[in-house]
Amino acid sequence: MKASPEQKKKVVIVGGGLSGLACGKYLAEAGHEPIVLEARDVLGGKVSAWKDKDGDWIETGLHIFFGAYPNMMNLFSELDIEDRLQWKVHKMIFAMQELPGEFTTFDFIKGIPAPLNFGLAILLNQKMLTLPEKIQTAPPLLPMLIEGQDFIDKQDELSVTDFMRKYGMPERINEEVFISMAKALDFIDPDKLSMTVVLTAMNRFLNETDGLQMAFLDGNQPDRLCEPMKQSIEKNGGRVLMKQRVKEWVLNEDDSVKHVLMANGEVIEADEFISAVPVDVMKRMCPEPWTKMPFFQQMKQLEGIPVINIHLWFDRKLQNVDHLCFSRSPLLSVYADMSTTCKEYYDEEKSMIELVFAPCSPIAGGKTNWIAKSNQEIVDATMKELERLFPLEIGKKAPDGVGAKLLKHAVVKTPRSVYAAVPGRNKYRPSQETPIKNFTLAGDWTSQKFLGSMEGAVLGGKLAAEVVSAKAKGMKTAGLKKINDDIMAEASTFSGQGWKRPQKMEDESPVVFGAGYVLEENDEQQLMTIDPEQLTEMDGRSQATKDAVQEAVLNRTR
Ligand SMILES: Cc1cc2nc3c(=O)[nH]c(=O)nc-3n(C[C@H](O)[C@H](O)[C@H](O)COP(=O)(O)OP(=O)(O)OC[C@H]3O[C@@H](n4cnc5c(N)ncnc54)[C@H](O)[C@@H]3O)c2cc1C
Repeated sequence: MKASPEQKKKVVIVGGGLSGLACGKYLAEAGHEPIVLEARDVLGGKVSAWKDKDGDWIETGLHIFFGAYPNMMNLFSELDIEDRLQWKVHKMIFAMQELPGEFTTFDFIKGIPAPLNFGLAILLNQKMLTLPEKIQTAPPLLPMLIEGQDFIDKQDELSVTDFMRKYGMPERINEEVFISMAKALDFIDPDKLSMTVVLTAMNRFLNETDGLQMAFLDGNQPDRLCEPMKQSIEKNGGRVLMKQRVKEWVLNEDDSVKHVLMANGEVIEADEFISAVPVDVMKRMCPEPWTKMPFFQQMKQLEGIPVINIHLWFDRKLQNVDHLCFSRSPLLSVYADMSTTCKEYYDEEKSMIELVFAPCSPIAGGKTNWIAKSNQEIVDATMKELERLFPLEIGKKAPDGVGAKLLKHAVVKTPRSVYAAVPGRNKYRPSQETPIKNFTLAGDWTSQKFLGSMEGAVLGGKLAAEVVSAKAKGMKTAGLKKINDDIMAEASTFSGQGWKRPQKMEDESPVVFGAGYVLEENDEQQLMTIDPEQLTEMDGRSQATKDAVQEAVLNRTR
Protein backbone atom coordinates (compact mmCIF):
# COMPACT_ATOMS: atom_id res chain seq x y z
CA MET A 1 0.00 0.00 0.00
CA LYS A 2 1.42 3.38 -1.08
CA ALA A 3 1.98 6.22 1.37
CA SER A 4 -0.63 8.98 1.12
CA PRO A 5 0.67 12.51 0.30
CA GLU A 6 0.55 13.35 4.04
CA GLN A 7 2.54 10.24 4.90
CA LYS A 8 5.15 10.81 2.19
CA LYS A 9 8.69 11.18 3.58
CA LYS A 10 11.81 12.71 2.14
CA VAL A 11 14.49 10.11 2.87
CA VAL A 12 18.23 10.60 2.55
CA ILE A 13 20.04 7.30 1.86
CA VAL A 14 23.83 7.43 2.24
CA GLY A 15 25.57 4.88 -0.02
CA GLY A 16 24.81 3.83 -3.59
CA GLY A 17 25.77 0.16 -3.32
CA LEU A 18 23.18 -2.55 -3.95
CA SER A 19 21.67 -2.05 -0.50
CA GLY A 20 21.22 1.71 -0.80
CA LEU A 21 19.84 1.38 -4.32
CA ALA A 22 17.42 -1.41 -3.34
CA CYS A 23 16.29 0.66 -0.37
CA GLY A 24 15.71 3.67 -2.65
CA LYS A 25 13.81 1.57 -5.17
CA TYR A 26 11.38 0.14 -2.61
CA LEU A 27 10.89 3.50 -0.87
CA ALA A 28 10.12 5.27 -4.15
CA GLU A 29 7.64 2.54 -5.05
CA ALA A 30 6.03 2.95 -1.63
CA GLY A 31 5.32 6.62 -2.42
CA HIS A 32 8.26 8.27 -0.64
CA GLU A 33 10.99 10.54 -1.97
CA PRO A 34 14.39 8.88 -1.57
CA ILE A 35 17.64 10.67 -2.36
CA VAL A 36 20.55 8.25 -2.71
CA LEU A 37 23.91 9.94 -2.08
CA GLU A 38 26.94 8.06 -3.42
CA ALA A 39 30.46 9.31 -2.68
CA ARG A 40 32.09 7.88 -5.79
CA ASP A 41 31.59 8.63 -9.49
CA VAL A 42 30.27 5.11 -10.00
CA LEU A 43 27.39 3.20 -8.41
CA GLY A 44 27.55 -0.28 -6.94
CA GLY A 45 30.09 -0.10 -4.07
CA LYS A 46 31.51 -3.62 -3.91
CA VAL A 47 29.97 -4.54 -7.27
CA SER A 48 31.26 -1.39 -8.97
CA ALA A 49 33.39 -1.60 -12.11
CA TRP A 50 35.23 0.89 -14.29
CA LYS A 51 37.20 0.94 -17.56
CA ASP A 52 40.99 1.02 -17.69
CA LYS A 53 42.95 3.13 -20.18
CA ASP A 54 42.53 0.44 -22.88
CA GLY A 55 38.76 0.38 -22.42
CA ASP A 56 38.75 -2.98 -20.61
CA TRP A 57 36.40 -3.36 -17.66
CA ILE A 58 37.90 -3.78 -14.19
CA GLU A 59 35.56 -5.26 -11.59
CA THR A 60 35.76 -4.94 -7.82
CA GLY A 61 34.94 -8.64 -7.56
CA LEU A 62 33.98 -11.74 -9.48
CA HIS A 63 30.27 -11.95 -8.65
CA ILE A 64 28.01 -14.98 -8.82
CA PHE A 65 24.22 -15.00 -8.47
CA PHE A 66 22.53 -18.10 -7.02
CA GLY A 67 19.10 -19.62 -7.57
CA ALA A 68 18.65 -19.34 -3.79
CA TYR A 69 18.74 -15.51 -3.93
CA PRO A 70 14.95 -14.86 -3.81
CA ASN A 71 15.12 -11.10 -3.22
CA MET A 72 17.67 -10.64 -5.97
CA MET A 73 15.58 -12.74 -8.37
CA ASN A 74 12.50 -10.63 -7.54
CA LEU A 75 14.52 -7.50 -8.19
CA PHE A 76 15.59 -8.71 -11.64
CA SER A 77 11.99 -9.61 -12.43
CA GLU A 78 10.62 -6.26 -11.17
CA LEU A 79 13.20 -4.40 -13.27
CA ASP A 80 12.36 -6.65 -16.21
CA ILE A 81 16.02 -7.54 -16.76
CA GLU A 82 15.90 -11.28 -16.04
CA ASP A 83 17.44 -11.98 -19.44
CA ARG A 84 20.66 -10.37 -18.19
CA LEU A 85 21.38 -13.33 -15.94
CA GLN A 86 23.42 -15.95 -17.76
CA TRP A 87 22.53 -19.19 -16.00
CA LYS A 88 25.12 -21.96 -16.15
CA VAL A 89 24.61 -25.72 -16.06
CA HIS A 90 23.54 -26.76 -12.55
CA LYS A 91 26.80 -28.13 -11.20
CA MET A 92 29.83 -27.24 -9.09
CA ILE A 93 33.30 -27.59 -10.63
CA PHE A 94 36.42 -28.22 -8.54
CA ALA A 95 40.01 -28.20 -9.78
CA MET A 96 41.76 -31.46 -8.80
CA GLN A 97 44.80 -30.78 -6.60
CA GLU A 98 46.36 -34.18 -7.21
CA LEU A 99 45.63 -34.22 -10.95
CA PRO A 100 46.70 -30.80 -12.27
CA GLY A 101 44.64 -29.64 -15.22
CA GLU A 102 41.71 -31.88 -14.34
CA PHE A 103 38.37 -31.05 -12.78
CA THR A 104 35.74 -32.95 -10.84
CA THR A 105 32.08 -31.98 -10.47
CA PHE A 106 28.97 -32.20 -8.33
CA ASP A 107 26.22 -32.62 -10.93
CA PHE A 108 22.63 -31.75 -10.05
CA ILE A 109 20.28 -33.97 -11.99
CA LYS A 110 17.30 -32.20 -13.53
CA GLY A 111 13.93 -33.28 -12.14
CA ILE A 112 15.28 -34.47 -8.77
CA PRO A 113 13.94 -32.19 -6.00
CA ALA A 114 15.95 -30.61 -3.19
CA PRO A 115 17.62 -31.72 -0.98
CA LEU A 116 17.85 -35.12 -2.72
CA ASN A 117 19.53 -33.57 -5.76
CA PHE A 118 22.42 -32.37 -3.56
CA GLY A 119 22.76 -35.73 -1.78
CA LEU A 120 22.80 -37.47 -5.12
CA ALA A 121 25.32 -35.01 -6.59
CA ILE A 122 27.71 -35.84 -3.73
CA LEU A 123 27.08 -39.58 -3.88
CA LEU A 124 27.68 -39.68 -7.64
CA ASN A 125 31.03 -37.89 -7.36
CA GLN A 126 33.66 -40.60 -7.13
CA LYS A 127 36.75 -38.42 -7.03
CA MET A 128 36.44 -36.29 -3.93
CA LEU A 129 35.25 -38.37 -0.97
CA THR A 130 35.08 -42.09 -0.32
CA LEU A 131 31.70 -43.70 0.48
CA PRO A 132 32.53 -44.12 4.22
CA GLU A 133 33.56 -40.45 4.33
CA LYS A 134 30.29 -39.42 2.70
CA ILE A 135 28.32 -41.55 5.17
CA GLN A 136 30.25 -40.04 8.11
CA THR A 137 29.61 -36.48 6.88
CA ALA A 138 25.83 -36.61 6.59
CA PRO A 139 24.57 -37.14 10.21
CA PRO A 140 26.09 -33.95 11.73
CA LEU A 141 24.41 -31.94 8.96
CA LEU A 142 20.95 -33.50 9.33
CA PRO A 143 19.79 -31.31 12.28
CA MET A 144 20.28 -28.33 9.98
CA LEU A 145 17.51 -29.66 7.75
CA ILE A 146 15.28 -30.89 10.58
CA GLU A 147 15.69 -28.21 13.30
CA GLY A 148 16.44 -25.40 10.83
CA GLN A 149 17.47 -21.91 11.90
CA ASP A 150 17.58 -22.66 15.65
CA PHE A 151 20.28 -25.30 15.19
CA ILE A 152 22.13 -23.11 12.69
CA ASP A 153 22.22 -20.08 15.03
CA LYS A 154 23.49 -22.20 17.92
CA GLN A 155 26.61 -23.20 15.95
CA ASP A 156 27.84 -19.62 15.62
CA GLU A 157 30.36 -19.94 18.45
CA LEU A 158 32.12 -22.79 16.58
CA SER A 159 34.47 -22.48 13.64
CA VAL A 160 33.95 -24.89 10.77
CA THR A 161 36.92 -26.95 11.95
CA ASP A 162 35.67 -26.96 15.58
CA PHE A 163 32.28 -28.20 14.37
CA MET A 164 33.85 -30.94 12.26
CA ARG A 165 35.90 -32.18 15.21
CA LYS A 166 33.02 -31.95 17.68
CA TYR A 167 30.76 -34.06 15.47
CA GLY A 168 33.42 -36.48 14.21
CA MET A 169 33.35 -35.47 10.57
CA PRO A 170 36.24 -36.90 8.53
CA GLU A 171 39.25 -34.54 8.38
CA ARG A 172 39.50 -34.89 4.62
CA ILE A 173 36.16 -33.15 4.06
CA ASN A 174 37.94 -29.98 5.17
CA GLU A 175 40.47 -30.13 2.37
CA GLU A 176 38.06 -31.52 -0.18
CA VAL A 177 35.09 -29.22 0.39
CA PHE A 178 35.15 -26.83 3.34
CA ILE A 179 38.32 -24.86 2.41
CA SER A 180 36.80 -24.00 -1.00
CA MET A 181 33.45 -23.26 0.56
CA ALA A 182 34.78 -21.04 3.38
CA LYS A 183 36.96 -19.04 1.01
CA ALA A 184 34.13 -18.62 -1.49
CA LEU A 185 31.64 -17.57 1.20
CA ASP A 186 33.73 -15.18 3.28
CA PHE A 187 37.29 -15.12 1.87
CA ILE A 188 38.68 -16.86 5.00
CA ASP A 189 39.79 -20.37 5.97
CA PRO A 190 37.52 -22.87 7.79
CA ASP A 191 39.40 -22.58 11.08
CA LYS A 192 38.40 -18.89 11.17
CA LEU A 193 34.88 -19.08 9.69
CA SER A 194 31.77 -19.52 11.84
CA MET A 195 29.95 -22.79 11.17
CA THR A 196 26.71 -20.80 11.07
CA VAL A 197 27.85 -19.34 7.75
CA VAL A 198 28.37 -22.72 6.13
CA LEU A 199 25.11 -24.09 7.55
CA THR A 200 23.16 -20.98 6.52
CA ALA A 201 24.47 -21.27 2.98
CA MET A 202 23.81 -25.03 2.85
CA ASN A 203 20.34 -24.62 4.30
CA ARG A 204 19.36 -21.98 1.72
CA PHE A 205 21.00 -23.82 -1.15
CA LEU A 206 19.75 -27.29 -0.21
CA ASN A 207 16.14 -26.38 0.40
CA GLU A 208 15.58 -25.17 -3.13
CA THR A 209 15.91 -27.39 -6.16
CA ASP A 210 17.76 -24.72 -8.15
CA GLY A 211 19.35 -23.14 -5.07
CA LEU A 212 22.93 -23.82 -6.07
CA GLN A 213 22.49 -23.04 -9.74
CA MET A 214 24.80 -20.15 -10.61
CA ALA A 215 24.46 -17.20 -12.95
CA PHE A 216 26.85 -14.52 -14.20
CA LEU A 217 25.56 -11.08 -15.07
CA ASP A 218 25.92 -10.47 -18.79
CA GLY A 219 28.20 -7.46 -18.30
CA ASN A 220 29.47 -4.83 -15.88
CA GLN A 221 27.25 -4.31 -12.83
CA PRO A 222 27.02 -0.47 -12.84
CA ASP A 223 25.44 -0.49 -16.32
CA ARG A 224 23.62 -3.81 -16.29
CA LEU A 225 22.15 -3.79 -12.74
CA CYS A 226 22.71 -0.48 -10.93
CA GLU A 227 21.54 1.70 -13.82
CA PRO A 228 18.08 0.04 -14.07
CA MET A 229 17.77 0.40 -10.27
CA LYS A 230 18.61 4.10 -10.57
CA GLN A 231 16.09 4.53 -13.41
CA SER A 232 13.40 2.81 -11.38
CA ILE A 233 14.05 5.16 -8.42
CA GLU A 234 13.96 8.23 -10.67
CA LYS A 235 10.84 7.07 -12.50
CA ASN A 236 9.05 6.95 -9.15
CA GLY A 237 10.13 10.42 -8.04
CA GLY A 238 13.40 9.72 -6.22
CA ARG A 239 16.95 10.81 -7.01
CA VAL A 240 20.34 9.10 -7.23
CA LEU A 241 23.33 11.43 -7.01
CA MET A 242 26.98 10.52 -7.47
CA LYS A 243 30.14 12.30 -6.25
CA GLN A 244 28.18 13.21 -3.12
CA ARG A 245 30.34 12.39 -0.14
CA VAL A 246 28.57 12.65 3.19
CA LYS A 247 30.97 13.91 5.79
CA GLU A 248 28.88 13.84 8.92
CA TRP A 249 25.53 13.01 10.47
CA VAL A 250 24.60 16.21 12.32
CA LEU A 251 22.35 15.62 15.34
CA ASN A 252 19.53 17.42 17.14
CA GLU A 253 19.54 17.82 20.93
CA ASP A 254 17.60 14.55 21.30
CA ASP A 255 20.26 12.66 19.25
CA SER A 256 18.00 12.30 16.21
CA VAL A 257 19.48 13.33 12.83
CA LYS A 258 19.09 17.00 11.94
CA HIS A 259 20.74 16.81 8.52
CA VAL A 260 23.71 15.38 6.66
CA LEU A 261 26.72 17.60 6.10
CA MET A 262 28.27 17.05 2.70
CA ALA A 263 32.01 17.24 1.96
CA ASN A 264 31.35 20.38 -0.13
CA GLY A 265 29.77 22.08 2.87
CA GLU A 266 26.19 21.66 1.68
CA VAL A 267 23.52 20.62 4.15
CA ILE A 268 20.78 18.16 3.14
CA GLU A 269 17.71 17.93 5.33
CA ALA A 270 15.13 15.15 5.28
CA ASP A 271 12.42 13.49 7.37
CA GLU A 272 14.24 10.17 7.56
CA PHE A 273 17.89 9.14 7.17
CA ILE A 274 19.30 5.77 6.18
CA SER A 275 22.88 4.59 6.31
CA ALA A 276 23.71 2.08 3.56
CA VAL A 277 27.48 2.28 4.04
CA PRO A 278 29.70 -0.67 5.05
CA VAL A 279 30.11 -1.34 8.77
CA ASP A 280 33.70 -0.05 8.88
CA VAL A 281 32.58 3.26 7.38
CA MET A 282 29.55 3.49 9.69
CA LYS A 283 31.87 3.03 12.66
CA ARG A 284 34.07 5.86 11.45
CA MET A 285 31.06 8.11 10.85
CA CYS A 286 29.20 7.24 14.06
CA PRO A 287 28.34 10.48 15.92
CA GLU A 288 29.86 10.71 19.38
CA PRO A 289 26.57 10.48 21.38
CA TRP A 290 25.60 7.28 19.54
CA THR A 291 28.88 5.55 20.40
CA LYS A 292 27.67 5.35 24.01
CA MET A 293 24.55 3.41 23.04
CA PRO A 294 24.62 -0.41 23.27
CA PHE A 295 22.89 -0.62 19.89
CA PHE A 296 25.77 1.05 18.06
CA GLN A 297 28.39 -0.59 20.26
CA GLN A 298 27.46 -3.88 18.61
CA MET A 299 29.32 -2.61 15.55
CA LYS A 300 32.62 -2.98 17.42
CA GLN A 301 32.26 -6.72 16.95
CA LEU A 302 32.00 -6.45 13.17
CA GLU A 303 34.67 -5.56 10.67
CA GLY A 304 35.29 -6.09 7.00
CA ILE A 305 37.56 -8.82 5.70
CA PRO A 306 40.26 -7.98 3.11
CA VAL A 307 40.07 -9.58 -0.31
CA ILE A 308 41.80 -9.21 -3.68
CA ASN A 309 40.26 -9.67 -7.13
CA ILE A 310 42.74 -10.28 -9.95
CA HIS A 311 42.20 -9.91 -13.69
CA LEU A 312 44.63 -11.67 -16.02
CA TRP A 313 44.51 -11.14 -19.79
CA PHE A 314 46.22 -13.93 -21.79
CA ASP A 315 47.38 -14.08 -25.41
CA ARG A 316 45.28 -17.15 -26.13
CA LYS A 317 42.14 -19.01 -25.16
CA LEU A 318 42.69 -21.32 -22.21
CA GLN A 319 40.77 -24.53 -21.50
CA ASN A 320 37.19 -23.51 -22.09
CA VAL A 321 35.06 -23.85 -18.94
CA ASP A 322 31.82 -21.89 -19.11
CA HIS A 323 31.33 -21.80 -15.35
CA LEU A 324 32.70 -20.79 -11.97
CA CYS A 325 35.59 -23.01 -10.82
CA PHE A 326 36.68 -23.69 -7.24
CA SER A 327 40.48 -23.66 -7.41
CA ARG A 328 41.03 -25.57 -4.15
CA SER A 329 44.37 -23.79 -3.98
CA PRO A 330 45.79 -22.44 -0.70
CA LEU A 331 46.30 -19.06 -2.36
CA LEU A 332 43.20 -18.69 -4.49
CA SER A 333 39.46 -19.11 -4.07
CA VAL A 334 37.13 -19.19 -7.06
CA TYR A 335 37.90 -18.09 -10.60
CA ALA A 336 36.25 -17.88 -14.02
CA ASP A 337 37.24 -17.21 -17.58
CA MET A 338 35.15 -14.09 -18.17
CA SER A 339 35.90 -14.20 -21.90
CA THR A 340 33.65 -17.28 -21.94
CA THR A 341 31.21 -16.86 -19.06
CA CYS A 342 30.14 -13.24 -19.58
CA LYS A 343 28.61 -11.85 -22.77
CA GLU A 344 30.08 -8.35 -22.56
CA TYR A 345 33.62 -9.66 -22.00
CA TYR A 346 33.30 -12.43 -24.58
CA ASP A 347 36.40 -13.11 -26.66
CA GLU A 348 36.80 -16.12 -28.89
CA GLU A 349 40.57 -15.91 -29.07
CA LYS A 350 41.90 -14.66 -25.77
CA SER A 351 41.08 -15.47 -22.17
CA MET A 352 40.47 -12.98 -19.38
CA ILE A 353 40.53 -14.83 -16.07
CA GLU A 354 39.15 -13.26 -12.92
CA LEU A 355 40.37 -14.83 -9.69
CA VAL A 356 39.57 -14.19 -6.08
CA PHE A 357 42.76 -14.25 -4.01
CA ALA A 358 41.94 -15.45 -0.45
CA PRO A 359 42.74 -15.53 2.38
CA CYS A 360 44.85 -12.53 1.52
CA SER A 361 46.05 -11.22 4.86
CA PRO A 362 46.55 -12.22 8.50
CA ILE A 363 43.28 -10.46 9.32
CA ALA A 364 41.63 -13.02 7.03
CA GLY A 365 43.55 -15.90 8.60
CA GLY A 366 46.30 -16.03 5.98
CA LYS A 367 50.02 -16.09 6.68
CA THR A 368 51.06 -13.31 4.31
CA ASN A 369 49.77 -9.78 4.16
CA TRP A 370 49.14 -9.60 0.44
CA ILE A 371 47.28 -6.29 0.80
CA ALA A 372 50.67 -4.77 1.68
CA LYS A 373 52.46 -6.44 -1.27
CA SER A 374 52.97 -4.90 -4.68
CA ASN A 375 50.62 -5.81 -7.53
CA GLN A 376 53.52 -7.46 -9.35
CA GLU A 377 54.30 -9.71 -6.38
CA ILE A 378 50.63 -10.76 -6.23
CA VAL A 379 50.51 -11.48 -9.96
CA ASP A 380 53.77 -13.45 -9.81
CA ALA A 381 52.45 -15.60 -6.96
CA THR A 382 49.17 -16.15 -8.83
CA MET A 383 50.94 -17.14 -12.05
CA LYS A 384 53.11 -19.60 -10.12
CA GLU A 385 49.99 -21.14 -8.63
CA LEU A 386 48.27 -21.30 -12.04
CA GLU A 387 51.36 -22.98 -13.45
CA ARG A 388 51.00 -25.65 -10.75
CA LEU A 389 47.24 -26.05 -11.29
CA PHE A 390 47.32 -25.96 -15.12
CA PRO A 391 50.79 -27.14 -16.22
CA LEU A 392 49.61 -28.00 -19.70
CA GLU A 393 48.60 -24.41 -20.41
CA ILE A 394 50.66 -22.11 -18.22
CA GLY A 395 54.44 -22.14 -17.75
CA LYS A 396 57.39 -24.03 -19.17
CA LYS A 397 55.82 -27.48 -18.87
CA ALA A 398 53.24 -26.54 -21.53
CA PRO A 399 53.71 -28.46 -24.82
CA ASP A 400 55.25 -25.38 -26.55
CA GLY A 401 57.70 -24.88 -23.66
CA VAL A 402 56.36 -21.38 -22.92
CA GLY A 403 52.66 -21.59 -22.16
CA ALA A 404 50.08 -18.83 -22.39
CA LYS A 405 51.62 -15.37 -22.22
CA LEU A 406 50.22 -12.84 -19.77
CA LEU A 407 49.38 -9.67 -21.72
CA LYS A 408 48.34 -7.49 -18.80
CA HIS A 409 46.83 -7.60 -15.34
CA ALA A 410 44.74 -5.61 -12.87
CA VAL A 411 44.84 -6.22 -9.12
CA VAL A 412 41.85 -4.82 -7.21
CA LYS A 413 42.34 -4.73 -3.45
CA THR A 414 39.32 -4.34 -1.16
CA PRO A 415 40.88 -3.86 2.27
CA ARG A 416 37.49 -4.06 4.01
CA SER A 417 34.89 -6.11 2.16
CA VAL A 418 32.01 -8.11 3.69
CA TYR A 419 32.01 -8.36 7.52
CA ALA A 420 34.26 -11.11 8.83
CA ALA A 421 31.92 -13.93 9.86
CA VAL A 422 34.30 -15.32 12.46
CA PRO A 423 32.71 -17.37 15.28
CA GLY A 424 30.31 -15.57 17.58
CA ARG A 425 29.57 -12.52 15.42
CA ASN A 426 26.12 -13.17 13.98
CA LYS A 427 24.39 -12.10 17.19
CA TYR A 428 25.92 -8.62 16.94
CA ARG A 429 24.47 -7.78 13.52
CA PRO A 430 22.06 -4.95 14.34
CA SER A 431 18.45 -4.67 13.22
CA GLN A 432 17.63 -2.17 10.49
CA GLU A 433 15.50 -0.28 12.98
CA THR A 434 17.65 1.71 15.42
CA PRO A 435 16.91 3.50 18.72
CA ILE A 436 17.23 6.82 16.84
CA LYS A 437 13.74 7.86 15.78
CA ASN A 438 14.60 9.06 12.24
CA PHE A 439 17.63 6.87 11.49
CA THR A 440 17.60 3.37 9.94
CA LEU A 441 20.39 1.02 8.89
CA ALA A 442 20.75 -0.83 5.60
CA GLY A 443 23.68 -2.82 4.21
CA ASP A 444 24.65 -6.46 3.78
CA TRP A 445 26.03 -6.58 7.36
CA THR A 446 22.76 -5.71 9.10
CA SER A 447 20.65 -8.50 10.57
CA GLN A 448 18.94 -10.51 7.85
CA LYS A 449 18.88 -14.20 7.10
CA PHE A 450 21.46 -14.07 4.32
CA LEU A 451 25.18 -13.59 4.66
CA GLY A 452 27.18 -10.56 3.63
CA SER A 453 26.35 -10.94 -0.06
CA MET A 454 24.50 -9.28 -2.91
CA GLU A 455 21.32 -11.01 -1.75
CA GLY A 456 21.97 -9.83 1.83
CA ALA A 457 22.53 -6.27 0.58
CA VAL A 458 19.25 -6.22 -1.37
CA LEU A 459 17.32 -7.75 1.53
CA GLY A 460 18.95 -5.37 4.06
CA GLY A 461 17.90 -2.42 1.87
CA LYS A 462 14.37 -3.76 1.46
CA LEU A 463 13.96 -4.28 5.23
CA ALA A 464 15.21 -0.74 5.90
CA ALA A 465 12.63 0.59 3.42
CA GLU A 466 9.93 -1.41 5.22
CA VAL A 467 10.88 0.14 8.58
CA VAL A 468 10.57 3.67 7.17
CA SER A 469 7.32 2.88 5.31
CA ALA A 470 5.74 1.28 8.36
CA LYS A 471 6.70 4.19 10.62
CA ALA A 472 5.35 6.68 8.08
CA LYS A 473 1.97 4.96 8.20
CA GLY A 474 2.01 4.70 11.99
CA MET A 475 2.15 0.93 11.70
CA LYS A 476 3.99 -1.46 13.98
CA THR A 477 7.52 -2.36 12.92
CA ALA A 478 9.46 -5.59 13.61
CA GLY A 479 11.19 -3.68 16.43
CA LEU A 480 14.78 -3.59 17.64
CA LYS A 481 16.71 -6.84 17.67
CA LYS A 482 17.68 -7.93 21.18
CA ILE A 483 21.15 -6.75 22.13
CA ASN A 484 23.45 -9.35 23.62
CA ASP A 485 24.05 -9.31 27.41
CA ASP A 486 27.81 -8.73 27.13
CA ILE A 487 27.24 -5.52 25.17
CA MET A 488 24.62 -4.34 27.69
CA ALA A 489 26.99 -5.07 30.58
CA GLU A 490 29.91 -3.35 28.89
CA ALA A 491 27.80 -0.35 27.95
CA SER A 492 27.22 0.59 31.57
CA THR A 493 30.94 1.16 32.07
CA PHE A 494 31.83 2.17 28.53
CA SER A 495 34.84 4.46 28.35
CA GLY A 496 35.09 4.75 24.59
CA GLN A 497 38.16 2.47 24.59
CA GLY A 498 38.52 0.17 21.61
CA TRP A 499 36.09 2.18 19.52
CA LYS A 500 37.53 2.83 16.13
CA ARG A 501 37.03 6.57 16.11
CA PRO A 502 36.82 8.56 12.93
CA GLN A 503 40.16 9.72 11.69
CA LYS A 504 38.57 11.59 8.85
CA MET A 505 35.97 11.37 6.16
CA GLU A 506 37.98 13.86 4.15
CA ASP A 507 39.65 11.50 1.71
CA GLU A 508 38.52 10.52 -1.75
CA SER A 509 39.95 7.04 -2.31
CA PRO A 510 37.44 4.21 -2.87
CA VAL A 511 39.09 2.33 0.04
CA VAL A 512 37.89 5.07 2.38
CA PHE A 513 34.32 4.20 1.36
CA GLY A 514 34.77 0.47 2.00
CA ALA A 515 35.21 -0.32 -1.69
CA GLY A 516 38.02 -1.78 -3.79
CA TYR A 517 40.46 -0.33 -6.30
CA VAL A 518 43.74 -0.81 -8.14
CA LEU A 519 45.62 1.00 -5.40
CA GLU A 520 48.04 3.78 -6.21
CA GLU A 521 50.33 5.58 -3.83
CA ASN A 522 47.68 8.11 -2.87
CA ASP A 523 45.15 5.34 -2.06
CA GLU A 524 47.74 3.57 0.10
CA GLN A 525 48.43 6.77 2.02
CA GLN A 526 44.72 7.20 2.70
CA LEU A 527 44.46 3.56 3.73
CA MET A 528 47.39 4.06 6.08
CA THR A 529 45.49 6.91 7.76
CA ILE A 530 42.24 5.06 8.33
CA ASP A 531 43.36 1.45 8.66
CA PRO A 532 47.11 1.14 9.29
CA GLU A 533 47.20 -2.57 10.11
CA GLN A 534 46.25 -3.32 6.51
CA LEU A 535 49.68 -2.23 5.42
CA THR A 536 51.63 -3.85 8.23
CA GLU A 537 54.18 -6.11 6.63
CA MET A 538 54.10 -9.47 8.36
CA ASP A 539 56.77 -11.33 6.44
CA GLY A 540 60.04 -12.08 8.19
CA ARG A 541 58.48 -12.09 11.63
CA SER A 542 58.29 -15.09 13.93
CA GLN A 543 55.15 -17.20 13.92
CA ALA A 544 54.52 -16.21 17.54
CA THR A 545 54.54 -12.52 16.59
CA LYS A 546 52.28 -13.13 13.60
CA ASP A 547 49.82 -15.03 15.77
CA ALA A 548 49.89 -12.32 18.43
CA VAL A 549 49.26 -9.55 15.87
CA GLN A 550 46.50 -11.55 14.23
CA GLU A 551 44.82 -12.18 17.57
CA ALA A 552 45.24 -8.52 18.54
CA VAL A 553 43.67 -7.38 15.30
CA LEU A 554 40.73 -9.76 15.64
CA ASN A 555 40.28 -8.73 19.28
CA ARG A 556 41.05 -5.08 18.73
CA THR A 557 37.49 -3.87 18.97
CA ARG A 558 36.18 -6.31 21.53
C1 LIG B 1 35.86 -9.62 -4.39
C2 LIG B 1 34.41 -9.76 -3.99
C3 LIG B 1 33.65 -10.81 -4.48
C4 LIG B 1 32.32 -10.98 -4.10
N1 LIG B 1 31.61 -12.02 -4.62
C5 LIG B 1 30.29 -12.14 -4.32
C6 LIG B 1 29.50 -13.14 -4.96
O1 LIG B 1 29.99 -13.90 -5.81
N2 LIG B 1 28.18 -13.23 -4.62
C7 LIG B 1 27.61 -12.38 -3.71
O2 LIG B 1 26.40 -12.51 -3.45
N3 LIG B 1 28.33 -11.42 -3.11
C8 LIG B 1 29.65 -11.27 -3.38
N4 LIG B 1 30.39 -10.27 -2.80
C9 LIG B 1 29.76 -9.45 -1.74
C10 LIG B 1 28.89 -8.31 -2.29
O3 LIG B 1 29.60 -7.58 -3.26
C11 LIG B 1 28.50 -7.38 -1.15
O4 LIG B 1 27.95 -8.14 -0.10
C12 LIG B 1 27.48 -6.32 -1.55
O5 LIG B 1 27.76 -5.77 -2.81
C13 LIG B 1 27.47 -5.22 -0.50
O6 LIG B 1 26.53 -4.23 -0.83
P1 LIG B 1 26.21 -3.01 0.15
O7 LIG B 1 25.34 -2.07 -0.59
O8 LIG B 1 25.76 -3.54 1.46
O9 LIG B 1 27.62 -2.30 0.45
P2 LIG B 1 28.63 -1.58 -0.55
O10 LIG B 1 28.63 -2.24 -1.86
O11 LIG B 1 29.92 -1.49 0.17
O12 LIG B 1 28.03 -0.11 -0.77
C14 LIG B 1 28.24 0.95 0.12
C15 LIG B 1 28.29 2.25 -0.66
O13 LIG B 1 28.39 3.35 0.25
C16 LIG B 1 29.22 4.34 -0.36
N5 LIG B 1 29.72 5.24 0.70
C17 LIG B 1 30.56 4.92 1.73
N6 LIG B 1 30.79 6.01 2.48
C18 LIG B 1 30.08 7.03 1.94
C19 LIG B 1 29.90 8.39 2.29
N7 LIG B 1 30.51 8.93 3.35
N8 LIG B 1 29.08 9.16 1.52
C20 LIG B 1 28.44 8.63 0.45
N9 LIG B 1 28.58 7.33 0.07
C21 LIG B 1 29.39 6.55 0.80
C22 LIG B 1 30.31 3.50 -1.00
O14 LIG B 1 31.04 4.22 -1.97
C23 LIG B 1 29.50 2.35 -1.59
O15 LIG B 1 29.07 2.62 -2.89
C24 LIG B 1 31.72 -10.06 -3.18
C25 LIG B 1 32.48 -8.99 -2.70
C26 LIG B 1 33.80 -8.82 -3.10
C27 LIG B 1 34.58 -7.64 -2.57
